Amino acid sequence: MSAGGFSLPVRDDFLLALEERARKDYIPIIKAEVGQFLQILIKAKKPKRILEIGTAIGYSTIWMARAVEGEAEVITIEKDAEMYLAARENFQAAGLSEKIRQKYGDALEILPYLKGDFDFVFIDAAKGQYLNYLELLMDLVPVGGLILADNVLYRGYVEKEGQIAHKRRTMVRTLQKYLDFIQDHPCLDSLVLNLGDGLALSVKKD
Ligand code: SAH
Ligand code: MG
Repeated sequence: MSAGGFSLPVRDDFLLALEERARKDYIPIIKAEVGQFLQILIKAKKPKRILEIGTAIGYSTIWMARAVEGEAEVITIEKDAEMYLAARENFQAAGLSEKIRQKYGDALEILPYLKGDFDFVFIDAAKGQYLNYLELLMDLVPVGGLILADNVLYRGYVEKEGQIAHKRRTMVRTLQKYLDFIQDHPCLDSLVLNLGDGLALSVKKD
């Protein structure tokens, strides 16, 4: 995959090993170019507190934590115990435990108890719940804060014309509702990028 002569971003052996493990265990991690994009945004914006929903084995968390500066931290939520523990090992092995705070549980139950501000939010958990996550975290994001959501184009199904197989129809409609919401919301400016599996990017403007 390349555009304009650009190849995939360089990853070290640690990230490559996580990619291999994700491939073997069918864990849906972000594409490397999404990792690179997250790093670029973080280096430019310099957020103080990043919130991630959906840790899995911590691949995307590591991309982000490597880009933060100084005291900034990444808070990441995961509801699967096995994933939560695997991620913890990976953060230790990556030497990033200091920059990452893990929360174990369902984001829908945890978000109402979180205190803001989060000036950078990455949503990458259950696609059917994106809008529920967003509604719970809108008040935690300050003006100027960025909200990103992965997999919003769902392998192209969201943009596809005509018939969509029944098993995918509900998911496509649910994702479309998220996209409509961020597009119509008076406090958000949004854009969908054809990066990885589709990345929605919103900035809170008031
Ligand atoms: N962000 C990761 C991949 C996450 S895969 C990466 O790119 O490396 C999605 C993860 O979200 C799964 O591990 C799943 O267990 C978790 N998840 C799904 N719904 C959740 C919820 N409601 N709360 C917390 N975690 C959730
Ligand atoms: Mg994803």
